[in-house]
Amino acid sequence: MISRCPNCGYSLRGLPEEYLCPECGFSYDVNCVVFAEPRNAWKGLAVLNSVILLAFAARGVLRGWSEADSLSILPFGVMMLGWLWHLSRPPKRIVISSQEIVLLKTNQERQTIAMSLVGDAHWSWTTGDIHLYGMDGEEMVTIERRFLASNARAKRAVAEIESRSRKRCQQTVSG
Ligand SMILES: [Zn+2]
Repeated sequence: MISRCPNCGYSLRGLPEEYLCPECGFSYDVNCVVFAEPRNAWKGLAVLNSVILLAFAARGVLRGWSEADSLSILPFGVMMLGWLWHLSRPPKRIVISSQEIVLLKTNQERQTIAMSLVGDAHWSWTTGDIHLYGMDGEEMVTIERRFLASNARAKRAVAEIESRSRKRCQQTVSG
């Protein structure tokens, strides 16, 4: 069960279970599963970078600032800007609902695959990518590894896709 919009984070409390996000118009379903690119490792490195930066700056101030201090601080300052730029961008996400699979690459760029077209999903242990096949067995879409960052998460995503397409098949048979 999700409580926030998978696209913009707007609170969905008190809203219908399947609707459009009032903030960004993203079509949600409270039972969808969201896989967001994990960033804790990046955040840790950014913190380490700022500690080194501050240590160099403190040393420079204490012994009277020289050109050597400016030179030693410069690369860490440049790296810090890189970390901040990377962390300020929204993480890549996959939203899996019973209706569709949505790949959110950035807030603007997205790819939607209707669940009714998905026959099967496979995870490749060599590349770490997920391959989606249509009802005819032809490959439709490749979800690149960078969306999931780890093999364990990719396998969980495949299981979620399979359970939803299987559920749909059972409903078709019983209906
Ligand atoms: Zn939204």
